[in-house]
Amino acid sequence: MPDVIVIGVGPAGANAARFAAREGLDVLAVDQRQEIGAPKRCAEGVVLEVLKRDMVPEDERWIAQRIHGLTFVAPNGRRVSAREDHVVGVVVERKLFDKYLATLAVRDGANVQAWTRAESVVRDGDTTRVTLSSAGRTWEEEAAIVICCGGVDATMARSLGLTEPVQPKNLSSGVQFEMAGIDIPDPTMVTCWTGRRTAGGGYAWVFPKGDDVANVGVTVLGSDEENSITYLKRFIASEPGLAQGSVLEVNAGTIPVGESISHFVADGIMVAGDAARQVNPIHAGGICEAMEAGRFAGETAAKAIGRGDTSKKSLKEYEERWSKGYGAFQNSLVRARRAVHSLSDEDLDYLITKITPKDVVDFLAGKGFTRAARLFARRPSLLKVFLY
Ligand SMILES: Cc1cc2nc3c(=O)[nH]c(=O)nc-3n(C[C@H](O)[C@H](O)[C@H](O)COP(=O)(O)OP(=O)(O)OC[C@H]3O[C@@H](n4cnc5c(N)ncnc54)[C@H](O)[C@@H]3O)c2cc1C
Repeated sequence: MPDVIVIGVGPAGANAARFAAREGLDVLAVDQRQEIGAPKRCAEGVVLEVLKRDMVPEDERWIAQRIHGLTFVAPNGRRVSAREDHVVGVVVERKLFDKYLATLAVRDGANVQAWTRAESVVRDGDTTRVTLSSAGRTWEEEAAIVICCGGVDATMARSLGLTEPVQPKNLSSGVQFEMAGIDIPDPTMVTCWTGRRTAGGGYAWVFPKGDDVANVGVTVLGSDEENSITYLKRFIASEPGLAQGSVLEVNAGTIPVGESISHFVADGIMVAGDAARQVNPIHAGGICEAMEAGRFAGETAAKAIGRGDTSKKSLKEYEERWSKGYGAFQNSLVRARRAVHSLSDEDLDYLITKITPKDVVDFLAGKGFTRAARLFARRPSLLKVFLY
C-alpha cells in the first residue's frame, strides 16, 4: 500500500508527489491523460523565482523564450512597459515542462502512472480508498493520505464536500491560438491589452515563443455576454502584426479567479492547485501557485505520516503555510480584480497614463496598494473601486 496517492500530475500533483517522495514516502501519482502535459491549456508563462525555489533546474528542452518584462496596452493604445536587465520569467513548452516536473518526481522516488483515472475517493477508518481505472480495468488502492490535484474541472474534491461549483463571476474562460508567422516587436517582452472591447473582464495577451511564434489569447469572465472566441478573433483582426499569422494550435479552458476554497484538508485528504482554486485572480496564472501548494502539501503529508497522524488537524499545517504566504493576499487580489473590472475604458486609459514601470512590477507582486489608492483618489469616477 502506498503512503500517498496523488490524483492528477499537473504542476500541483507533480510537486506534491516529488516533495512527499523526497521525504522517503511511498508515493503513487496517477493522471488520466495518456501523455502528461498534453494537450496544453495554458499561455505557458512562468515566473523564474518559483523554479529556483522549487529546485527545478532550467532545461533548454522546455524553455521556449526567456522573458525580461511586461508591456500593458491601454484601450486608447498607450503602452507602459516594465523591463528588467535580467530574465524574470520564461514561456515554457508546457507539454515538456509538465512531463519534466513528473520526471523529477520519479527521480525523487515517486511512481507516476499516466492513463490511469481516479474514479472515486472514500475515507475508510485510518486509510483513504481510491478506485482507479485504466485500459478497461478497475481496481482499488488504499493510502494513508490522498492529495487531489485534478485541476479546475476535477470533481473529486467536490465529492468529498471540500468544494462547491465555481460561480460564473469567479470563473474566467480562456481561449488561445498558438500562432506562427506573426510580427513580435520584442520577443523578450510579454504584452497584455486591457479594455472592455478587447476582453470584457479580462485581458488579451501575446506570450512570445520565439521571434515569430507566440501564444495569443484572451481571458473573459464567465459572466460576460460575449464568448472568449469572439473577443479573440476580433482582437487578432484588429492588431497589426497578428492578422496575417497561421494557427498551429487552439487551446481553451477555464480558470478560477475568485477566492480559494475555504479548507484544503479533511481527514486523510488534501487538495492543491486549481482544484483548490489557488490561482492569481489578477492575471489568472496558476502554475507557480500550483507548484507551491503541491510542495507544501507533499511536505506536510510526509510530516503527518512521520508522526502517525493523518487527521484533518494534523494536515492543517499545509493550510496554515499557504495562508501565511500567497494565500494571505489572494482574497485582496480578488477584490482588486473586481474593482479593475468595474472600470470604464476611459478610467483604464487614465490609469495606464499615470502608472510607471515600477507600479506594474509592484502590482503584479500584490504590492504598492498605497500608491494605487493615491492614483485612484485623484479621479472621482475611480472612487467606486473602494466599494469592492
Ligand atoms: C487559456 C489558459 C491560459 C493559461 N495561462 C497560464 C499562464 O500563462 N501561466 C500560468 O501560470 N497559468 C496559466 N493558466 C492556468 C494554469 O494552466 C493552471 O493554473 C495550472 O495548470 C494548474 O495546475 P494544476 O496542477 O492545479 O492543474 P492541471 O494543470 O489542470 O493538472 C490537473 C491534472 O489532473 C488530471 N486529472 C484530473 N482529474 C483526474 C482524475 N480523476 N484522475 C486522474 N487524473 C486526473 C488532469 O488530466 C491533469 O493532468 C492558464 C489557463 C488557461 C485555461
